[in-house]
Amino acid sequence: MKKQMTSLNIDRRAFIKSAMFATGFAPMARILADSPSNAARGDSCASGIAYSRTLPVKVETDVFIAGGGSAGVAAAVAARSAGARVFLAEGFTCFGGMGTAARVPVFMQWGDGTRDLACGFGTRFRERLQKAGAMNNGAFWFEDVKREYDAVMVESGTDFLFQTRVIDVVAEDGAVKYAIVAAPGGIWAVKAKVFIDATGNGDLAVQAGVPFAKGDATGHMMPASLLSAWSGIDWERWTKEHPKVSQPFGAELARAAADGVFKEPDLHMTGLYRFPNGYATANIGHVFNLDGTDERSLTKGYVRGRESMKEYERYFREYLKCGLENVRLVETAAMMGVRETRRIAGDYEMTLDDYMKRAVFPDEIGRYAYPIDIHPSSADKAAYEKHREEFDRLYKYKNGESYGIPYRILCAKDVKNLLVAGRCVSTDQKVQASIRVMPACYITGQAAGMAAAMAADGACDIHAIDVKALQKKLKDFGAYLPNAEV
Ligand SMILES: Cc1cc2nc3c(=O)[nH]c(=O)nc-3n(C[C@H](O)[C@H](O)[C@H](O)COP(=O)(O)OP(=O)(O)OC[C@H]3O[C@@H](n4cnc5c(N)ncnc54)[C@H](O)[C@@H]3O)c2cc1C
Repeated sequence: MKKQMTSLNIDRRAFIKSAMFATGFAPMARILADSPSNAARGDSCASGIAYSRTLPVKVETDVFIAGGGSAGVAAAVAARSAGARVFLAEGFTCFGGMGTAARVPVFMQWGDGTRDLACGFGTRFRERLQKAGAMNNGAFWFEDVKREYDAVMVESGTDFLFQTRVIDVVAEDGAVKYAIVAAPGGIWAVKAKVFIDATGNGDLAVQAGVPFAKGDATGHMMPASLLSAWSGIDWERWTKEHPKVSQPFGAELARAAADGVFKEPDLHMTGLYRFPNGYATANIGHVFNLDGTDERSLTKGYVRGRESMKEYERYFREYLKCGLENVRLVETAAMMGVRETRRIAGDYEMTLDDYMKRAVFPDEIGRYAYPIDIHPSSADKAAYEKHREEFDRLYKYKNGESYGIPYRILCAKDVKNLLVAGRCVSTDQKVQASIRVMPACYITGQAAGMAAAMAADGACDIHAIDVKALQKKLKDFGAYLPNAEV
């Protein structure tokens, strides 16, 4: 990686103006007008300051990736395999994002019930985790997963930094030129030919002025969850008393709620994942009305999430019992489990109609099949029952069915050299609730990485790459592309 000691003079006001111009700010302004995050971004504050400084350009590369969650890592490995120089900035302290830092405990389905769909990086990484003993009946030993991500990234030859967060971009003539990062060493710039936003929230794309949407028609988003780890469970006793139930689901939740155990009773309980020695990792509880792109909302959410775990501890001990009398909360995740925030506008928006049609696209970069899983945005019983109806029946595929994922949903609207991967790709809310899970993020991540490498090797225009050539490269990389004529 070529390190540069050049510098970049940034006038924040002038930059915002040029970025808005370059990327067609008018539609974004329209979409943002009602968005609660607009104020959080600071762009529409009544008062403000002009801010200007000269920043060092510390890295120059072919492909810059913001965020090292499942999508970012897959993108980096794919782009490196195609020969591009890659630099990845991860804001937190490890790779994996929701799957490690936020403690999401398991992978959702890899395939359509008859075969794997998340092939290529996904299936190879799964094999690697299995070999490393990182999986326990499908659930993760998180430290192993973090270490395997580290190893994959080091082996790929990607240049990467932790605790390095994208805070801004400089755009000119409809293209991003620099990403501005904040790191322990200060604020500096990265120059790249092509950029990939794999931040989950679309942070980089928003700074580049790309329009986005959030939540349902009323702006409601899925609740978040602060995931957790537990000890002191007598699993043998639990099994003896519940031979047919492997996890303590919400059997006594309604009774505990009626007794006032919970400040905010919530019937939707995903469960505890069983580990040896009385240990469990857990996806329980919801933090409602949380906006993962608003630091005040997140802060309130962490406080409420941690408080609610004490309520669950009491519920386990006094209501579930059967081996949980001595259960102890070990820790909550260091990062909030955020299911949904921005969906970044692309050249195409994938919709429920595409999902229902099991669509086939000429520019398909993969296929996937996880059901639409919209956790209800409120704790009431009717909302939960609607969720069950949608998840279990209304939108569920039969074995062997899947939907195509078009390349165009990765291409940020009106920005020449910006791709988006992972849970913030261009879909409606329903499709986001399927494509957001980790195996699908590997599919969109590897496609974005491969496309970015191709664009960086040519005209740096991600909208104009040869899609057939991309499909061929993805097939060679291991992707499942049954409809691609290559
Ligand atoms: C509670 C919960 C339960 C879930 N359960 C499952 C499940 O059981 N199975 C499953 O497969 N999926 C599950 N999911 C979905 C899945 O975990 C996520 O949607 C998926 O991991 C998203 O991957 P991503 O790479 O798009 O984003 P993320 O995992 O969010 O990764 C984004 C990365 O970017 C970094 N980042 C963010 N902003 C910046 C910035 N400005 N600069 C630099 N870095 C930045 C973050 O630190 C993070 O590491 C669950 C999600 C949640 C929240």
